[in-house]
Amino acid sequence: RKADVECRMLVLGAGPGGYTAAFRSADLGMDTVLVERYASLGGVCLNVGCIPSKALLHAAAVVDEAAHAKDYGIDFGAPKIALDTLREYKGKVVGQLTKGLSGMAKQRKVRVLTGVGRFVSANEIEVEGQGGTQLVRFEQCIIAAGSQAVKLPGFPWDDPRVMDSTDALELADIPKTLLVVGGGIIGLEMATVYRALGSQVTVVEFMDQLMPGADPDLVKPLADRLKKQGVAVHLGTKAAGTTAKKAGIEVSFESAKVGTKSSIDTQVFDRVLVAVGRAPNGGRIDAAKAGVQVTDRGFVPADRQMRTNVPHIFAIGDIVGNPMLAHKATHEGKLAAEVAFGEKKEWVARVIPSVAYTDPEIAWVGVTETEAKDKGLKVGVGKFPWAASGRAIGIGRTEGFTKLIFDEATHRIVGGGIVGVHAGDLISEVGLAIEMGCEVHDIGHTIHPHPTLSESVGMASEVYDGTITDLY
Ligand code: FAD
Repeated sequence: RKADVECRMLVLGAGPGGYTAAFRSADLGMDTVLVERYASLGGVCLNVGCIPSKALLHAAAVVDEAAHAKDYGIDFGAPKIALDTLREYKGKVVGQLTKGLSGMAKQRKVRVLTGVGRFVSANEIEVEGQGGTQLVRFEQCIIAAGSQAVKLPGFPWDDPRVMDSTDALELADIPKTLLVVGGGIIGLEMATVYRALGSQVTVVEFMDQLMPGADPDLVKPLADRLKKQGVAVHLGTKAAGTTAKKAGIEVSFESAKVGTKSSIDTQVFDRVLVAVGRAPNGGRIDAAKAGVQVTDRGFVPADRQMRTNVPHIFAIGDIVGNPMLAHKATHEGKLAAEVAFGEKKEWVARVIPSVAYTDPEIAWVGVTETEAKDKGLKVGVGKFPWAASGRAIGIGRTEGFTKLIFDEATHRIVGGGIVGVHAGDLISEVGLAIEMGCEVHDIGHTIHPHPTLSESVGMASEVYDGTITDLY
């Protein structure tokens, strides 16, 4: 069969991984086709992930700051929320970015095909769009088909009151009561939004800590604040049974520990958000027809050059594995395009930062203290409490702290964590320190501007075991 479209490079999926790969590939002079099932480019991150959630979190932060302003003598009164306008604002933010991507694709002469792509051979993909099916023949391909929310079985998913993160971001209404199943980053970000807008929020988390993966001390200031704000958090708890009733969604709970009673009884909620993780889309692209290996869970394994088991087919982003983060996807996208072009490169970044844009934010990078303990690594920890930061005191947010984790023998920084406002913006310095092989005193010797929250990173390098230490 004759191909309808031929190209040097085909990128499947236009999320942060895919559009970065396609743009890089075009910049390198490769004739590039980008296949995306939705009309809007940007994938989960721009359309129903990172960007809309942060727009809403900004609104939530403003509500909270306005309430806090009473403490310093400025009373804005109770917020009046025009939900349509807020939704419009979120839409505008998303639209500006996704339209920008379409413009950038045009500029680079990346041909965008709208439709669902599936492999038919190791060099062909069929794209099923509104106008029919097109066969695209490619020399090389980058799979960037991403992931989707896990739909826990047992929930009445056909009931609009049961939501995944995409539904929750639609902001159909502000429910009186909201249950969030899953106390990870996405669940807690949405809990933050709905709580600020006026919902009574309950969070249940199966593990015995919110945001499993982050060090418990980093999570504590957030847990304390949520409690103060009236968010009910139940750890070691799972939603066991769900029934759609006229009055709401009735949910029963079980303790994660067999033989113990759960700390929350059966309750009826106006809405339930299920945020228990994301599943890769590897099982939905007929990868076998190209000979590309897919794991049972739907991941497409890739090597350090982002090549799958089929050397001219690469895979990047959420579909290759955890952590499922946009900045990992873009990094891999660029790498895959460059390797495909013939550059001799491979994955060399040591660490990938994680950020929860909750209030306070939690950010961490590299080795955590928990990990160090589990692996028997000998590390030192420098910790600076924001209660001693002039800037944090000035903005009334002293609950945060900054910690640096370093190898006890070499003093090289191996990890770090920050909890507090803007933690996500502050963590990059620690990431850079790790990538550059910095010793902890290198940060201490770097002059940080005063009074900033970034000073806390410098101060953490000087505080070791609670005392100011000269480490060299
Ligand atoms: P995706 O963004 O999933 O893009 C894949 C694209 O492929 C999609 O557009 C999809 O439509 C398309 N596609 C799939 N199959 C086909 C097919 N067969 N044919 C055609 N097209 C196809 N990460 C962060 O780093 N920071 C954050 O703050 C953050 N916040 C998040 C908030 C939420 C609510 C969610 C859900 C996620 C968030 N993430 C965040 C995660 C981030 O969105 C993902 O890690 C990122 O989008 C992954 O990029 P990707 O390119 O691998 O795939």
